[in-house]
Amino acid sequence: MKIPRRALCLVAIAALAATLLLPSSLLAQQRRLVTIASGWVVGVYYPLAGAMSRIAYKAKDVNIRATVESSGASVANAQLVGSGDADFALLQNDIAYYAYNGVTLSAFQGKPVKNMGGVFTIYPELVHVVATKASGIKGIRDLKGKKVVLGPQGSGTEANAIQVMESHGLKVGDVQAERIDAAAAADQLKDGRVDAAFFTTGVGSAVIVDTFISGKTVLVPVAGSEAAALIGKYPFYTAVKVPANTYKDQAEAQTVAVMAMMVARAELPEDLVYKFTKAIFDDLKQFHEAHSAAKSLTLETALNGMPIPLHPGADKFFKEKGVKK
Ligand code: GLU
Repeated sequence: MKIPRRALCLVAIAALAATLLLPSSLLAQQRRLVTIASGWVVGVYYPLAGAMSRIAYKAKDVNIRATVESSGASVANAQLVGSGDADFALLQNDIAYYAYNGVTLSAFQGKPVKNMGGVFTIYPELVHVVATKASGIKGIRDLKGKKVVLGPQGSGTEANAIQVMESHGLKVGDVQAERIDAAAAADQLKDGRVDAAFFTTGVGSAVIVDTFISGKTVLVPVAGSEAAALIGKYPFYTAVKVPANTYKDQAEAQTVAVMAMMVARAELPEDLVYKFTKAIFDDLKQFHEAHSAAKSLTLETALNGMPIPLHPGADKFFKEKGVKK
């Protein structure tokens, strides 16, 4: 059916008039689009970012629509915030510190990411070093000469892998290093195309569960004097134990962990970040349901291991709650 031009014009004018007549309160409710840079689809950041997006959407006065981007993770995410391409991001607290201060990693030396404010810390991320049973790898030194996935491009995992190897006297050149995404690393471990892979991720991360279901992998410990030296040099690491059977038929192992945290772009309005933070803590139940690792988020511990100054919106929230002086 052909609609006469005049009729179309009238419809357009009516629509315009309706917009002009909208009460200002309704206009104010138009949602601001923001992006949350997360991590691996098979990791923990991604489901958590999805949960935060849903919580913020549901909350009465936050007025944002948050889209979730998957990425290599921590290093890439800090850079995305720095360039203004992401508004919120999940990342490791060690990487947030290096990024903000422009130290330790070549990605940030001379290129500090200053427009990034802390929002809250969430859960320990364990350096999971997963090796195939067939490789015979029992300790980090056994990685020498083997095919090893250091992590995805832009991950915090890669930085951790290099530091862990360094504390055991190994350089990147001592292994056949690969940088591929986490899901591909899991597939290649299961097929025996690589001997080992690093994953810094929360306990129960889908990618680790998956490799252990295959029955073909073991967890390689990061322990002893080498772990102590690592923690001495890079104080964001803490020593942790992975109890037996955390993953299918996995033996107890020592390793090291950093913390997962949330940051916001400094340019975001104080009010927006305040309301976003409040919405998450007002609906902790939904947040906790997103992943078993998410259960570590509590108001009382939300600033533990915070390595950078808070975003003013988060600062206001935690002061109001008496968590910060
Ligand atoms: N911590 C990881 C990294 O930055 C990402 C983990 C995840 O997505 O769960 O390499």
